[in-house]
Amino acid sequence: MASRPTTRPDRRTFAIISHPDAGKTTLTEKLLLFGGAIRAAGEVKARGAARRARSDWMKIEQQRGISVTSSVMTFEREGLTFNLLDTPGHEDFSEDTYRTLTAVDSAVMVIDAARGIEAQTRKLFEVCRLRSVPIITFINKVDREGRSPFELIDEVADQLALDVSPMNWPIGMGGQFEGLYSLERCDVQRPSGEADRSYDGDVTATTGLDDARLDTLISAQAAAQLREDAELAGAGYAAFDEVAYQNGDLTPVFFGSALKDFGVADLIDALARFAPSPRPQPAEPAPVSPDDPAVTGFIFKVQANMNPMHRDRVAFMRLCSGKFRRGMKLNQVGTGKAIAVHSPILFFAQNRETAEEAFPGDIIGIPNHGTLRVGDTLTDGPARTITGLPNFAPEQLRRVVLKDPTKTKQLRKALDDLAEEGIIQVFYPEVGGQWIVGVVGQLQLEVLISRLEVEYKVDAMLEPSPWNTARWIAGEADVLKTFIADHRAAIATDRDGRAVFMAKDNWELSYVEERNRSLRFSATKERA
Ligand code: GDP
Repeated sequence: MASRPTTRPDRRTFAIISHPDAGKTTLTEKLLLFGGAIRAAGEVKARGAARRARSDWMKIEQQRGISVTSSVMTFEREGLTFNLLDTPGHEDFSEDTYRTLTAVDSAVMVIDAARGIEAQTRKLFEVCRLRSVPIITFINKVDREGRSPFELIDEVADQLALDVSPMNWPIGMGGQFEGLYSLERCDVQRPSGEADRSYDGDVTATTGLDDARLDTLISAQAAAQLREDAELAGAGYAAFDEVAYQNGDLTPVFFGSALKDFGVADLIDALARFAPSPRPQPAEPAPVSPDDPAVTGFIFKVQANMNPMHRDRVAFMRLCSGKFRRGMKLNQVGTGKAIAVHSPILFFAQNRETAEEAFPGDIIGIPNHGTLRVGDTLTDGPARTITGLPNFAPEQLRRVVLKDPTKTKQLRKALDDLAEEGIIQVFYPEVGGQWIVGVVGQLQLEVLISRLEVEYKVDAMLEPSPWNTARWIAGEADVLKTFIADHRAAIATDRDGRAVFMAKDNWELSYVEERNRSLRFSATKERA
């Protein structure tokens, strides 16, 4: 077991957000290699590939028992502990992915240099924006033909409404790639050694763009282009400003290649230098500061074992304050239940180990039998409730149809339970008796059906519903009442009794929103 320091060590708790295939897995692997957490390349990849095959997912869960190892990866580098939280971005995209982003202090956004910002990047970014999570941008695959650096940077600025500050500049791309120029340090990093090997870039310092050495390090044409580009970039983009970054208003942009290990060291250094230490967490009645001596944390994810023989679940808790010690009793705020945490799990790359202690910013896994729910706050101090763990507008809505109509009561209980756990959202329409479940990803539906069958012995089918998206609606009482009366067929209540408007598609949604400007249509609903 690794010995851990006893004073409060500093943490960087972050996630990588990206669209499938941008290079998240490759980058994760390189970061872990840098941190010495894994020895051989390829391990993360193999697991990533397995996870991608969705049909295998449940089988894997069943074989492995509780599959949690990939959810958090911890590595250390130069005295700093990095906690990298996985946000699955493939077909197993779900609300978990979104909620995981409430447990990080910063994010790295990976963009494919040939594709720019893609749909999933944008969605995940929007979630980060809700909480002003600071973002470092990594434009990946410069070793391949890509779009112009200006075009890529402008796209980030325009589409995400962020200030951008390039930190390095690619010297050519694809076949013409000659290296990276650090705008910060003015050095040139050129490819050397074999491709795919760990970083051994050949770095040469220069005194700046005017340095004649540049012309010997790279081709004359590349040097001329670099000088021109860097000058334009210097004039056109904001200088890096740490406060603006920490507020989520500015993103530093690094170009690189995860595959060829280019720019990865600078990225990790940027995380170490700029990314925030554990931040205070919004809570009622007052925010929880990481300096607070009481132990406080919140559950952002619950992973259930699909094997009916083992009803164990692991609740993932983000520690927000205090020093956690194994065996501690924590109170579940709300129920007041005391929970003794005897075998907390700490994650270290592929392995997990029992955590003797943990600090703010750390994630620990707490095995339990369903007592712990997504959104729960646990503390050994005064009762406080961490807020800001949102529900997200579902992107798929399905009718739940019972095969055996006498099981209505069981179904209701199951749907309420699973909604509380954060597996699905449930909506009870004003008109018609059939309940609707909403999810953001297909995988959630599969988990739903499997758990209904295995745990609740309810045989149900999911059928298409006329709707594809939903928004929570709020506004002045009479306006709301009129709206509900006029749109009854598309109105439901969620499990907290809040009114929801269901729409066929985004076009219908904008149409209705446009005509009811005095109402608020929210894509997220914060848990109270
Ligand atoms: P993910 O879906 O975001 O996890 O992406 P992966 O890391 O699995 O990468 C998708 C594909 O892009 C794989 O074939 C990688 O080998 C490739 N790839 C990742 N990074 C780079 C890079 O820097 N350069 C090149 N040429 N290919 C890359």
